[in-house]
Amino acid sequence: MSITPLMPVYPRCSFRPVRGEHCHLIGEDGTRYLDFAAGIAVNLLGHSHPGLIGAIQRQAETLMHVSNLYGSPQGEDLAQRLVDLTFADTVFFTNSGAEAVEAAIKTARAYHQHDGNEQRFELVTFNNAFHGRTMATVSASSQTKMHHGFAPLLPGFRYVEFGDLDAVKAAIGPHTAGFLIEPIQGEGGIRVATQEFIQGLRDLADEHDLMLVFDEVQSGVARTGSFFAYEHYGIAPDIMAIAKGIGGGFPLGACLASEKAARGMTFGTHGSTYGGNPLAMAAGGAVLDAVANDEFLADVRAKGERIRTRLEQFIGNYPDLFEGVRGLGLMLGIKMKGEPRPFMQHLRDSHQLLTVAAGDETLRLLPPLVIGDAEIDEFFDKLSAGAADYNQAGEAS
Ligand SMILES: *Cc1c(COP(=O)(O)O)cnc(C)c1O
Repeated sequence: MSITPLMPVYPRCSFRPVRGEHCHLIGEDGTRYLDFAAGIAVNLLGHSHPGLIGAIQRQAETLMHVSNLYGSPQGEDLAQRLVDLTFADTVFFTNSGAEAVEAAIKTARAYHQHDGNEQRFELVTFNNAFHGRTMATVSASSQTKMHHGFAPLLPGFRYVEFGDLDAVKAAIGPHTAGFLIEPIQGEGGIRVATQEFIQGLRDLADEHDLMLVFDEVQSGVARTGSFFAYEHYGIAPDIMAIAKGIGGGFPLGACLASEKAARGMTFGTHGSTYGGNPLAMAAGGAVLDAVANDEFLADVRAKGERIRTRLEQFIGNYPDLFEGVRGLGLMLGIKMKGEPRPFMQHLRDSHQLLTVAAGDETLRLLPPLVIGDAEIDEFFDKLSAGAADYNQAGEAS
């Protein structure tokens, strides 16, 4: 038998972390890595955060899981906090991002279909999007590499160029239920939607009674320096999927919706065995305790600006390697000239700096939101050293 016990769907690298300390990961052999990947935008509070650990420990000792058939003081509490902090009036808790997007898709369809408008099922989605790995969410994602081997896809999604409002207008028809968009594409390469585009989608949704669905699984929960990225645009979506950061490392996601948008989500229409269990609620509450305040958000914006300014100066030294910097807050990307993966591997293996490669030739920087000046300096030391000897290696070959 040659298949590995862990189903070999990930090309895993040789780094095998066994412990985390604040913004560092420690491998089996004791080597320390600076973590500017944060579990792909998950570990907002870094590793081994006392508040998060304490909340999980206390809840685990008290009550870990009960059925959603019972009343949930823990769920009501976290849902109320999210309602108070966002556009939403109601929240459905999930265990992952893909499940949150699934719930968002169902909510958008049910908005139209609950009163018999059965032909409205299609969501317009965008090229280079990533919405998850379940059948509905791969069907919603335009990338053909995610589809190969899994036919038939679910019907009901129509892909349009990211940023092309005329193409969106042309795609609206009798079957359209709404738009599903990452305001900042993450896996697609930290591509930030323009103000005009998002405002245009909001206007079209209002004009045609369509659902504007945001996938903020990666951009949400303080990552961009506002609690959610939609706030940067001065509009609100009707439905929003979140996950990643909200659990700080504990599996937790949610589908948020306005009362109007959730009109089809009545008794018995949706469910989850684990979703919203007391342990997950405790983790989510501890994350909100830390990040959902103006001081924390202002700090994320300030650190994002500092890194961005230094990055823009730095990349000027390597015009053959780097093209530009993009993103918001601490959701940053360095657009490279060519594939980012070899450079990401070089930073990891030769300089113990963890980053994430993304589409559109972009290297993603997604540090824990609790980084300080020491970690920012360490990051630039490693990045400078990495660019310097990568360039030499490149010239030598
Ligand atoms: C990661 C991600 C997902 C999927 O989340 P999972 O927890 O892996 O299911 C969906 N949408 C976006 C924008 C993401 O970044």
